[in-house]
Amino acid sequence: MKIICVGRNYVEHIEELNNAVPKDPVLFLKPDTSILLKKQPFFIPEFSNDVHHEVEILVKINRIGKHIDRKFAYKYYDEIGLGIDFTARDLQLQLKEKGLPWEKAKAFDGAAVIGNFLPKSDFKDVNDINFRLEKNGEVQQVGNTSLMLWKIDTLIEYISKYFTLKIGDVIFTGTPSGVGKVNSNDILKGFVEEKELFSIKVK
Ligand code: ZN
Repeated sequence: MKIICVGRNYVEHIEELNNAVPKDPVLFLKPDTSILLKKQPFFIPEFSNDVHHEVEILVKINRIGKHIDRKFAYKYYDEIGLGIDFTARDLQLQLKEKGLPWEKAKAFDGAAVIGNFLPKSDFKDVNDINFRLEKNGEVQQVGNTSLMLWKIDTLIEYISKYFTLKIGDVIFTGTPSGVGKVNSNDILKGFVEEKELFSIKVK
C-alpha cells in the first residue's frame, strides 16, 4: 500500500507557515515503513529538534482506479479515519529553501500515524466532519472538512491522474492550523466528532 499526502489544503494552516495558496493540490508520498505500528510510542528522530504534529482526516481506498472522475469518486472509499502526518519542520524548512524533496522530513519511520477508521455511512456529509487533536488533554488543532480547499472527491480525481489508487491506499487530506512541536512524554489523542481514533505517546 501507499500513503498519498496532501499539503496546503486549509487556508489558515497555509497562512501560519507563510506559504502561498497553491493553484493545484500539493502532493507527496510516504512509504509503508513510515507507518507507526499500533500501540507503539512515537520516537522523536535524532535528526530533528522540531517535529510537528499535523492531524489529518484519512480516506482509505477500497478499489483500484486511475483517472477517476470526481462524480464517481465516492465509490472508491467507504471508510474515514484520522491520523498524524509527523513533520520534522526544521529539516523540511532546509529542504524547501533548497527546492529539494521533503521525504526526509515527512517519510521517516513512524511519521505516519494511522488511527482507527469509521464507516463513511456514519457521516451525513463527508464534507462536514469535525475533528481535533488534543495534546496532554488540551485542544491543539481543530478542523472541519468543509474548510478544505480541495474536498475528498476532488482530491481522488486529482491524485488518480498521477497515481493509480489501489485497495488499502490511504490519503492524508491535509492539516488545519494549530500545528506545533511535540516533546517527550506528550500524549496525543485524535477525535472525529466525539470518537477517539488514536492515542499516541511521544518518546
Ligand atoms: Zn500534512
